Amino acid sequence: MTTRRSLLPILLAAAAAPAWLRHARAADVDRFPLGVASGCPRPDGVVLWTRVGGPGLPEQVEVQWELSRDEGFRDVVARGREIALALDAHCVRAEPQGLAPSRWYFYRWSALGQQSRAGRTRTAPALEADEPLRFAIASCQRWDHGLYAAWRHMAAQDLDLVLFLGDYLYENGGTAEGTRVRQHRGPRLRTLEQYRDRHAQYKGDLALQAMHARAPWILTWDDHEVDNDYAGEQGQELQPDFAQQRAAAYQAYWEHMPLPKSARPRDGTMRLFERYDWGRLARIHALDDRQYRSPQACPRPGRGGSNTVPVTGCPALADPSRTLLGAVQERWLEAGWSTAHGWNLVAQQTLMAGIEWRDPARPGEPMAWTDGWDGYAAARDRLLAGVAERRLPGVVVLGGDVHAHFVADLRRDRRDAAGPVLATEFCGTSISSEGPSQARLAQAMAWNPHLRYARSDQRGYVQFRLDRDHLHAELMAVADPRDAASAVTAAARFAVVHGRPGAVPA
Ligand code: FE
Ligand code: CA
Repeated sequence: MTTRRSLLPILLAAAAAPAWLRHARAADVDRFPLGVASGCPRPDGVVLWTRVGGPGLPEQVEVQWELSRDEGFRDVVARGREIALALDAHCVRAEPQGLAPSRWYFYRWSALGQQSRAGRTRTAPALEADEPLRFAIASCQRWDHGLYAAWRHMAAQDLDLVLFLGDYLYENGGTAEGTRVRQHRGPRLRTLEQYRDRHAQYKGDLALQAMHARAPWILTWDDHEVDNDYAGEQGQELQPDFAQQRAAAYQAYWEHMPLPKSARPRDGTMRLFERYDWGRLARIHALDDRQYRSPQACPRPGRGGSNTVPVTGCPALADPSRTLLGAVQERWLEAGWSTAHGWNLVAQQTLMAGIEWRDPARPGEPMAWTDGWDGYAAARDRLLAGVAERRLPGVVVLGGDVHAHFVADLRRDRRDAAGPVLATEFCGTSISSEGPSQARLAQAMAWNPHLRYARSDQRGYVQFRLDRDHLHAELMAVADPRDAASAVTAAARFAVVHGRPGAVPA
């Protein structure tokens, strides 16, 4: 506990004995056990977040925040107060406005006589500015599969922004397995209280807290924030009460993420897809490919969720009436492609380029995994047709979900090696979630020439440097995911030249 934290209650003690007793007890527990976070950076504002914790919290807790230009909080430029409500698990957010563009700030919270740690955040550049961007993509941080060396390493870099691309938490219950490096607390998630507790468990990790406190995040979700392989309003087990489960998960997600007040879920839905501009350099399209998607094609009998099926045996895979983004979001993306920005970055959940799989027993028969974009081929083609039509010179698709590093070329028809590459794809591996078989993936490279790199045996993240002319990518790999202090090194480096889609080794 810092000196400042322990001093404040003593100063307040001068007021009255009951207050002294109350604050003395408050000083013994951490009132900000999940740290602080910021997100959704704009040229003139950013969202600040924390959750008030500890025992004996009243229904409403008054919290103060301040935002400073300096780390020592001598140059405070904005402050305010908010009420943390038990109804929102005492999660609370502030949205300072009127800030200067392209500037770093420091922020902290106070409540119940205690002060939070300070967080660092920044605003986006002004609309006309042409400034570089350093960012990372991350996804899939399954708690019981590994420790967070990736976050610790990332927090030591100097990044402007984190794009988190889904599977912030996993819904699986704890198991009796002795081989896990750590365990999920509680059963498989179903209720609001359970989702809240799982968020609290994950956010209790100090390496994750460090990265949240280090830079603003832009987030989207995938399936596990709710339930494996869900699609729209359908759970993978076709559970009749899935709508309530999803609503509970969405509420807990909004509560615990640095998202604006306006994103609060209503009637079990939540608007998460959003655009962010980084000056004239880049427009970031953060997509939601879970909430509005059609159910997966050709599921196993009596179930929802994913399957791996022969392409010729499942005509629904190519059915143009099926959608991954939903009609509204598809139109929104179409309307949002920017020719005023050098780059269009598509921050979405999974490997857009897809992979053709083959059953060793029937090697002549292409197979598709129905949960990814291969299960929504017509929707993917509509998206890529939009890119081709506008001749956009700098489209980069960013993804996660598949627990492997991928670098890929995006073409209308990936089998047509002579066809133009329309966009570059980087799909980042998981922070900690275990990956699929590397041997199987290495085999599949032979008949998937659009994949320039594929490694499923590495945990980590991808960090990027983007300027007007180039994108540089470093595919980071954790040496030992069971060691929180593990070395993290660049397993590969790629570069993209503006106007020439397709990454090349660098
Ligand atoms: Fe995952
Ligand atoms: Ca996933």
